[in-house]
Amino acid sequence: MEGLNRPLPHPITPETQPYWDGLKKHKLMLPNCEACGPFFYPRILCPKCHSPNLTWIEASGRGRLFSFEIAYQAFNPEFKIEPPYILAMIELDEGPRIMSNLIHIKPDPMVVKCDMPVEVVFEKLTEDITIPLFQPAKRIGGRLV
Ligand SMILES: [Zn+2]
Repeated sequence: MEGLNRPLPHPITPETQPYWDGLKKHKLMLPNCEACGPFFYPRILCPKCHSPNLTWIEASGRGRLFSFEIAYQAFNPEFKIEPPYILAMIELDEGPRIMSNLIHIKPDPMVVKCDMPVEVVFEKLTEDITIPLFQPAKRIGGRLV
């Protein structure tokens, strides 16, 4: 699609629809097993106990940088984000890990640190697709807000 800086996701499985619907409303929704708690990515069964008894919860949008990589070139020509940029594995406060980009920070290994607090930023790509990106959590007076 013209003007986009990354490939557009094409949600086709009904079990992911609450996730995509939530993002449009700036809510990060996680599938939640009644026995085991939240998980990610959305599936029709709990990945731990295989229960089909799933609900959805709204995540806080806060977490920590679990791991990252600084990409100095894009191997997929559909990615038009100017490198370097940060590929990030975020561990949400609710537990599940989510792959994303870390933005609003210099892509420098001396600046980006594992375990740093991060928060979600919603990036609208089209009327139907909004994606979750993450940025360093805001601080006021040394406290996270
Ligand atoms: Zn379970």
